[in-house]
Amino acid sequence: MGTDIISSEFRKRARNGEYEGLDKEKEGEWNGSFMFIQGADCQYGMIDDMAEKTPIRWEEEIKMTRIAIDKINQMKPKPKFFAVCGDLVHAFPGEEGRTEQEQDFAREFSRLDPSIPLVCCCGNHDVGNKPTPQSIQRFRDTVGDDYFSFWAGGVKCLVLNSQYYEDSSLVKEMSEKQNEWLDRELNGKCRQGCKHLITFQHIPWFLKHPDEGNDYFNIDRNVRSKMLEKLHKAGVKTVFCGHYHRNAGGFYKGMEEVVTSAMGCPLGTEKSGLRVVTVTESGINHKYYAMDDIPLSFELD
Ligand SMILES: [Zn+2]
Repeated sequence: MGTDIISSEFRKRARNGEYEGLDKEKEGEWNGSFMFIQGADCQYGMIDDMAEKTPIRWEEEIKMTRIAIDKINQMKPKPKFFAVCGDLVHAFPGEEGRTEQEQDFAREFSRLDPSIPLVCCCGNHDVGNKPTPQSIQRFRDTVGDDYFSFWAGGVKCLVLNSQYYEDSSLVKEMSEKQNEWLDRELNGKCRQGCKHLITFQHIPWFLKHPDEGNDYFNIDRNVRSKMLEKLHKAGVKTVFCGHYHRNAGGFYKGMEEVVTSAMGCPLGTEKSGLRVVTVTESGINHKYYAMDDIPLSFELD
């Protein structure tokens, strides 16, 4: 029944640990610089909830999505993909408005040019702060896999479910499966031939410094230090996250972590927006734009 929750226009393309159309055979070769878009926290319903409005609506979030997608659809060159790093909707699983928010998310994001793949991470609002097998299954049924890998222009990309690092007490088996999968993906054979290795997730490992204390917005230090070292050792170049609703990030031994503010309700000084990421042979550059300032054409080199 889960599949009926989201409108039929929404195509689930993250399945069986992969993303349809973004496989090694089609996208494993480096063909020169390209760009992609990263956003986070469109989180339909947060703005009204923060303002304590009832009933909660999400017109403003929809407006922001429409500006973003209209611009992305016109961009030259065409982005290779659009990654949304979690908190697609605000209502937690089972809360009032959840199904309507999911349906509106699916409808609005279906306006994206179908030749630009939409890659979604799951956030704490999507699967719950303490996810259950049911809440994760619902995400898989409606949006797609909660962790998977894909290729884009010779770059290997991993999408992680950061909620397993936050609280896996009710989903130990699922969490263990992600760990085993990640170890396989990070070993030499799986990523052979990639120009760069990058990852996407919702909750940042850290906000500004890898050694900072625990916070609502970062991952517990013990888990964090182990995982940062694992990713760095495997050669991950950049980690893209959301959740903080502000721009932040930093470096762990040369591996960059980029925290991107919200497409929906920002909590810092930046306006709602998204990040344009340029991938060149030598590295990965990125810049955050407020929705109204997003340019339509980009120089790649
Ligand atoms: Zn979040």
